[in-house]
Amino acid sequence: MSLWRKSVLAIANRPAIEGLVRRYGMRLARRFIAGETLEEALAAVHRLEEDGIHAILDVLGEMVKDEAMARAFAEEIKKAVRAFAALPYPRYVSVKLTQLGLDTSEELAKELLGEILAEAKAGEVFIRIDMEDSPRVDKTLAVYRAMREAGFENVGIVLQAYLKRSEADLEALLPYRPHIRVVKGAYAEPPEVAFPDLPTIRATFKALVEKNLRAGNPTAIATHDDALIRWAKDWARERDIPRNLYEFQFLYGVRPALQKKTAREGYTTRAYVPFGKYWYPYFSRRIAERPENALFVLRGLLKP
Ligand SMILES: Cc1cc2nc3c(=O)[nH]c(=O)nc-3n(C[C@H](O)[C@H](O)[C@H](O)COP(=O)(O)OP(=O)(O)OC[C@H]3O[C@@H](n4cnc5c(N)ncnc54)[C@H](O)[C@@H]3O)c2cc1C
Repeated sequence: MSLWRKSVLAIANRPAIEGLVRRYGMRLARRFIAGETLEEALAAVHRLEEDGIHAILDVLGEMVKDEAMARAFAEEIKKAVRAFAALPYPRYVSVKLTQLGLDTSEELAKELLGEILAEAKAGEVFIRIDMEDSPRVDKTLAVYRAMREAGFENVGIVLQAYLKRSEADLEALLPYRPHIRVVKGAYAEPPEVAFPDLPTIRATFKALVEKNLRAGNPTAIATHDDALIRWAKDWARERDIPRNLYEFQFLYGVRPALQKKTAREGYTTRAYVPFGKYWYPYFSRRIAERPENALFVLRGLLKP
């Protein structure tokens, strides 16, 4: 699977492929992306709420290389935060630090995230810092710690079960009583830093969830993997973990029937709702997760 992911992400990085998919692909991308505008994303939020699923808004964008663009993205994110704050639903927004200029300067990312968190605090919006590829993990954790030390409580972080370092990272974060989202991990990582096999990734996923919940910290279980979801429900029930301490999170367009079922069963259920013009890298990662998705794109591109 990891070889498959590496190959798809390498092909997706070729400018000719990107050009082709960008030109003809929005119609295909709509399976995973709510649209290109905030209005379309808010319409998706309402639709999800009808099924008892709460949304996590995400303004698509990452790996920004200049300050002006990072500032423009921060403005877009604040606009989304304000629009969400006006809705009568639980409110939650995800951000990527490379979208806020992390690759240019850690200080810039801190400044912009601080502004977003202040806006979010006023509107009672929770902000999740997504975790990107392994060379950016240290910086991402440093920015998270800086925000917590600055007094922001409405912010959480993500740990990736495929990374060999994640259990140690959690241990070091525990004094912050962190709000953690546990995921498997979506990037093409080398074997020196990441476990290549599903059984070890699943075991680490469980270890991270267990450790954070045993410490009494809020934990988001973000996976579409039936085995992990079943395990988490049983594990939490057998230990009387209160339901408000953990929740299930999914990606927009992935296993919607499972999302509805989880919400119907009374678990807090959220769907990550990405929107915006910069959908290509996010879309490539969704394609890399499943061979069937690559066939779906190929078929779509070949259609007249
Ligand atoms: C809310 C949320 C936030 C996330 N945030 C991050 C993050 O910050 N950083 C990060 O690295 N990763 C993030 N991820 C992605 C995550 O790391 C995985 O790449 C992704 O969730 C796929 O792994 P899985 O655990 O769902 O299971 P898999 O083992 O990949 O899949 C289990 C089953 O789910 C279904 N499925 C999974 N993916 C797809 C797909 N793309 N299309 C169709 N069906 C699919 C299939 O039925 C598959 O058999 C996030 C995921 C979620 C749900």
